[in-house]
Amino acid sequence: MKKKPNYKLRRTIAKISLVVIVLVIIVIINWTSITRIPIYIQYSNKYSYVKTLFEVGYNNEETKATIEEFDKKKVFDKINEDYIIELHNKGYKNKTINFILVNFTKLEITKLLNKEHNKDLEGFLDVELFNFDHYQRYVDYKEDYPDLSLDQVVTRVELDLDKRPYETPEEEKDPNSLTALVNKHRYISKDYVPTDLVEMSDEYANNAYGVKEIRKETYEQFKKMVDDARKEGITFLAESGYRDYDYQETLYRDYVNEYGEAKANEFAARAGFSEHQLGTTLDLSNIWTLEEGDKEYKWIDENGHKYGFIFRYKSKFEDITGYKAEGWHIRYVGVDAATTIHKKGISFDEYWLKYVKNNSK
Ligand SMILES: [Zn+2]
Repeated sequence: MKKKPNYKLRRTIAKISLVVIVLVIIVIINWTSITRIPIYIQYSNKYSYVKTLFEVGYNNEETKATIEEFDKKKVFDKINEDYIIELHNKGYKNKTINFILVNFTKLEITKLLNKEHNKDLEGFLDVELFNFDHYQRYVDYKEDYPDLSLDQVVTRVELDLDKRPYETPEEEKDPNSLTALVNKHRYISKDYVPTDLVEMSDEYANNAYGVKEIRKETYEQFKKMVDDARKEGITFLAESGYRDYDYQETLYRDYVNEYGEAKANEFAARAGFSEHQLGTTLDLSNIWTLEEGDKEYKWIDENGHKYGFIFRYKSKFEDITGYKAEGWHIRYVGVDAATTIHKKGISFDEYWLKYVKNNSK
């Protein structure tokens, strides 16, 4: 005998299925709101801020991070939800809104809201080396040099180029390092003398006016470079190497007496501010001092990095180095650094800022 189908059970299953389907649809439609519930609960004391952040389009992660940052930086004491809405309506990105609310005073925020959307502010925040402590300096520098990109502005301010040479110099504390930076804003101690200086032989240096000294590794690499260049018919000698503080002081004073300080600053360094005191720097000559464009210059410019050498003062970097081009002045920075500098076509100052000071990869 055939069993009679259990219609009652089937109807019940159908009803339950329908309810489940409807529930699933409701959950899917409201999924965003549902995932927000735990955040509302977690930050119930900041309910109105959470609500505002969601309204202007922050996602869950951004909202949580923002509330925590605002809490930590005590932003809630100074702002209300209207600022968030107004900044958003002005066109500021979430990242910028947070930055403004955390770093600007109430007065600065009000001023900002009275102006058009500030494109540069948003742009500066995207620059890798951006540092808020220097924000006003970036703005001032950009005003003075409107043609520079925001990236260039940040780089230059981070190198203190908005300050006058020797104005507020910082000491290079690690002069032994091959990537020590010495320029018109950074100096080395009067007492620094490299401990591994060696004398260069007449085969590699013009010792006619005093024996030239240089640090050992620099000398080894220099000899290799000179030997390889000679095989290709390119010859040059070291005219100058390590110079101690006192010698540089006399040299600089003589130049100032002869040319005046402003002119002397274009090509000579104050004592303590000369790379020659590092013992990794050489001035080169063939018969004459080398200049950009000489065949010896070109050879070193193309090959020097393989031995760890770079030209420190090129004409294209005059704005950054603060020196007129010196086609004779090379610096040993090690093969890795020299290769990066060569490949990227950047100045040593920029290399130092990015890869030594800020340790970028
Ligand atoms: Zn030099």
